[in-house]
Amino acid sequence: MPRGVIPRQPAKTGRQDRSRLVPHTTKPRISKPHVGAGHRPVPAERSSAAKKPKYNPLAPDRFAEILNRLDQLYPDVTCALEHRNAWELLVATILSAQSTDVNVNRVTSILFKKYPAVQDFAALKPEQLEPDIRSTGFFRNKSKSVVGAAKKIVEDFNGEVPMEMDQLLTLPGVARKTANVVLGTWFKVNEGVVVDTHVQRISRRLELTREENPKKIEQDLMRVIPRKRWTLFSHQIIWHGRKLCIARRPRCADCLLENICHAADKTWSTVEIHTGAK
Ligand code: SF4
Repeated sequence: MPRGVIPRQPAKTGRQDRSRLVPHTTKPRISKPHVGAGHRPVPAERSSAAKKPKYNPLAPDRFAEILNRLDQLYPDVTCALEHRNAWELLVATILSAQSTDVNVNRVTSILFKKYPAVQDFAALKPEQLEPDIRSTGFFRNKSKSVVGAAKKIVEDFNGEVPMEMDQLLTLPGVARKTANVVLGTWFKVNEGVVVDTHVQRISRRLELTREENPKKIEQDLMRVIPRKRWTLFSHQIIWHGRKLCIARRPRCADCLLENICHAADKTWSTVEIHTGAK
């Protein structure tokens, strides 16, 4: 540009830009409201209610809030079953079906002194184990599962609990719930969500699933929970089920999730109840 020539500045109003976008000949069309017979104006409050977005229990902000409050309630929780290695955790998890963690811990504290290694269990007949685990319930089936799992681990996996889901599922008495506990808690692998009776009940109360089948519940939860949270979420919900969100009489008045929970069987509520949330 030659010296002394000042480039033209665009007008501050920006009129020249708009003139390019909107031809002068185009006039905005404003349609008149129909006020004749059969076309009454909609009252303001009714029209705003119609526009209210439909409640979505899986909306990202609601879900993030649930995770956030669980973190506040249960910041550092882990599995309550006492164990020193993957084998002990596997046994304790098999024994925990239909039993309490306190009872299982009492049983295993003696059991693992009597049979310290997986090879000791593999050398047993199920009937020999039955008296030691009797108080955990379903002791005949549990004896078969524990001894069967020990034999398979010794014969097929060189005495080491496998850390692959497919391999864990080949062990007698091991389904996805037990495998998820061992993988998530001991091996720190987020392969799935542990769906026990607490996770089943509370996921439905919080409207995170409508399913009843544990496998389908797990699929629903895996879709909405970030993978890195799968194990922690399971432990937090299990603790919540033990402490506050109890099956028969949940302690809703003490619950930090209360004002975002619409469960049908709440014992106290400041928000509307959803009859399907159970
Ligand atoms: S408000 Fe009640 S039902 Fe809802 S999560 Fe808390 S304890 Fe459970």
